[in-house]
Amino acid sequence: MDLDGENGGTLTQPEPTRRAVVLSSFDLPDADLPLRYGCEDCACAVSESLPRRSSLRSRDWKADSRLVRGREVIEIPLARDWRVLFNPVGRGGAIVVNDLAGRVFSCFERPAAVVEVLAANPDLASEIEQVVGDLVEYGLIHPEGQAPRPEFADSRMLTAWLHVTNACNLRCPYCYLHKTPEGMTESVGRASIDAVMNSAVAHGLAAVKLKYAGGEASLNHQLMLSLHDYATVRAEQHGLALHSTLLSNGVRLSAALIEALKARDIRVMISLDGLGEHHDVQRPFVSGKPSFKHVERTIGLLSAGGHAPHLSITVTNRNYAGLADVIRFALEKDLTFSLNFFRDNDCAAPFADLRYEEQAMISALLEAFAVIEELLPRWSVLGSILDRGQLLEPRQRSCGVGEDYVVIDQRGRIAKCHMEIERTIGDVFVDDPLRAVRRDLTLVQNLPVEEKEGCRDCTWRYWCSGGCAMATFRATGRYDVKSPNCNIYKAIYPPALRLEGLRILKHAVSTGGAGWASL
Ligand code: SF4
Ligand code: SF4
Repeated sequence: MDLDGENGGTLTQPEPTRRAVVLSSFDLPDADLPLRYGCEDCACAVSESLPRRSSLRSRDWKADSRLVRGREVIEIPLARDWRVLFNPVGRGGAIVVNDLAGRVFSCFERPAAVVEVLAANPDLASEIEQVVGDLVEYGLIHPEGQAPRPEFADSRMLTAWLHVTNACNLRCPYCYLHKTPEGMTESVGRASIDAVMNSAVAHGLAAVKLKYAGGEASLNHQLMLSLHDYATVRAEQHGLALHSTLLSNGVRLSAALIEALKARDIRVMISLDGLGEHHDVQRPFVSGKPSFKHVERTIGLLSAGGHAPHLSITVTNRNYAGLADVIRFALEKDLTFSLNFFRDNDCAAPFADLRYEEQAMISALLEAFAVIEELLPRWSVLGSILDRGQLLEPRQRSCGVGEDYVVIDQRGRIAKCHMEIERTIGDVFVDDPLRAVRRDLTLVQNLPVEEKEGCRDCTWRYWCSGGCAMATFRATGRYDVKSPNCNIYKAIYPPALRLEGLRILKHAVSTGGAGWASL
């Protein structure tokens, strides 16, 4: 049995066990680590604090309670004798069961009391209570008439995009920005931070996340560091937690800047769209020269400096043939990453060859998933591989636009989404940024998934949330319909859950965390 993947790097199938086993991500030793380590350009999709096992309410049930399986529970075969169970309207996440535990689950296809199941299956007597307790806790079976309902976490953090410069040294064809040399000034930056902090306090939020962005934010790095120091003081004065990320193209971060970022705990997200030509084909310098070698060097410098970056990979028709390779690169270096599908916009309109074909995108993603399966990381990829969707916590909206996300441009003007940065609705000198974005009814409308035609009855509605509102509007002229990527999403959710099941199985076994192997 080679579940560590150390002998040849593959996950071989575990031996069957004679005990019923139920495993979840909570059984892994790293269960408390945040599952999303970095952040791409969009409003963050997943809250910083994901549900803990103790937060899953165990419903009351007694041996004579009638229990039944959740109507929407999905089953995905894993390795021999193992499968993943997932309730799309619950909060338990992907749950791995072996054959015996699966048999217990199957006993509740129709409402049944535990005593009845025991009478019919005396061989399950020694463990049925424990298994049923776990299945109830994870929302896979429930007392008859008390089906679990999705519970959505309240927003506790204001995410603010601080556009410290409108300049960039690259000319990526999919970029939505009309670049100019104009940078933010110290006074505009400080006014922006004051407005963000005051807004967070006024709306009862506990934390602020600053995304230092552009253009290429590192071109104005002295201002960025100075603003960050100012934000640190202001956050402390307001009793707010502060998180920050530099969004960078990674072509030129000096060793001194990396030290400064690390010292301030500013996370770094680097855009890397492929290896060699698969990156260069869509991320050239202004001169047209390739940038990959520069980015690769920066990633090396960051890793060597103990400040490993998160990689943001934008997938277009130009680079998807190299997707599996760049994911292998990330995993072999133990770097987290996230995938973003190309989103059409006015600036990108002349580059028709960026638009991807549905089937080709699905094939490229499945090829990339095969690499993930081969090199299964300790961290969950469920927050990283599904574009704007995720399988970590149920949500009604795919991002925080209009709720807890503000974009502030280099002049202090407020926008709702960075892709709409040139359509502003006020400025930080007179407006409360959060109130401005929440009240707006004219720009991007981020509707709850239940209001999207085609999504209401979808299995994945609370995980996909109907996709990016901007992309849907661009493709359809409407906000209240399903994503143009719908077929791609539906194709990749089940294999993504399978990957999570394999991760749980691999790491629970290799660490002895859940100890099924010792049963
Ligand atoms: S966009 Fe498609 S996959 Fe996503 S919630 Fe809507 S119907 Fe489901
Ligand atoms: S609307 Fe779309 S592009 Fe804008 S932050 Fe949300 S997911 Fe990202």
